[in-house]
Amino acid sequence: MMIIMKPDATEEQIQHVVDRLAGVGARGHVSRGEFVTIIGAIGDREQISTLPFDAMPGVDRVMPILKPYKLASRQTHPDDTVIHVGSCSLGGGAFALIAGPCSVESEEQYMKAARLARDAGASMLRGGAYKPRTSPYSFQGLGEDGLKIMAAAREETGLPIVTELMDPRDVEIVLRYANVIQIGTRNMQNFQLLSEVGKVERPVLLKRGMSATIEELLMAAEYILKEGNSDVILCERGIRTFETATRFTLDLSAIPVIKKHSHLPVVVDPSHATGKRDLVLPLSLASVAVGADGLLVETHPDPEEALCDGSQSLPVSEFAAFATEIRRYVEMGGRRLS
Ligand code: PEP
Ligand code: MN
Repeated sequence: MMIIMKPDATEEQIQHVVDRLAGVGARGHVSRGEFVTIIGAIGDREQISTLPFDAMPGVDRVMPILKPYKLASRQTHPDDTVIHVGSCSLGGGAFALIAGPCSVESEEQYMKAARLARDAGASMLRGGAYKPRTSPYSFQGLGEDGLKIMAAAREETGLPIVTELMDPRDVEIVLRYANVIQIGTRNMQNFQLLSEVGKVERPVLLKRGMSATIEELLMAAEYILKEGNSDVILCERGIRTFETATRFTLDLSAIPVIKKHSHLPVVVDPSHATGKRDLVLPLSLASVAVGADGLLVETHPDPEEALCDGSQSLPVSEFAAFATEIRRYVEMGGRRLS
């Protein structure tokens, strides 16, 4: 951290900052320039950050040198994190195609989607058993019965399953079934939930809050990492903007920005981002091009009859052609579909 003093800061004020640093076991390295003095704080970052520099007389401003998300940052972990889920990998050149319905509605519906996803070469299955619906009157998911159907689909297809956890009270039950725990956009800053999934040994797919900045997403990941769970997959799923042509606005620039600052893998959810099935393929291809490590795509055997998000779901009959296009683009970039 660098503490920049005001041009008219006195010697006493400079010494006061140095003394306060010494008080927390840190050292202040004083550089005197022609106009301003800068004090470099050297020592334990957590201790230093407890000091109220902005309130100290003579201090102009404080500039952090390290990112506030120290575990998620590339500064402390330069290599890409690769996450292994069953035989599938994500990150470091391995690309994951995760597909399935928004919600598990019935065994017949889910099995059909799962079989076709497997036949098309998907890496993992998605599906919601606990659904975060805007309206309390909408279908809320099948709960544990939905998880059981997903487990049966995993049994038959061999594909790992990704499903959302909404409530810390359901951690145990979701852990009994899920290979990857999803935290949805509406819970990105549910810090208690983040801390709970930080304590378990299961990869977490953390979706960006619809109104969260990239830094806020990385700070949310930090809550999980801090508890000891290092398997965090970030997900860009569209943010709120003034544009109404799509459900949200897919922030494509977030992918290279996150990958520049963080070692964690990033997947894109073009289904929720756009809300429109015809936009899923072009934005998926764009996501591959900007360096995403995977895609999370909604499919349905009969989108017209879907209980949730039918308009953005690809009919399962079209998924094989979609997957072929994705594989072509992934391989064109020298990567492989995992
Ligand atoms: C989902 O993936 O099922 C979902 C509800 O997504 P989001 O949290 O991004 O809205
Ligand atoms: Mn959905």
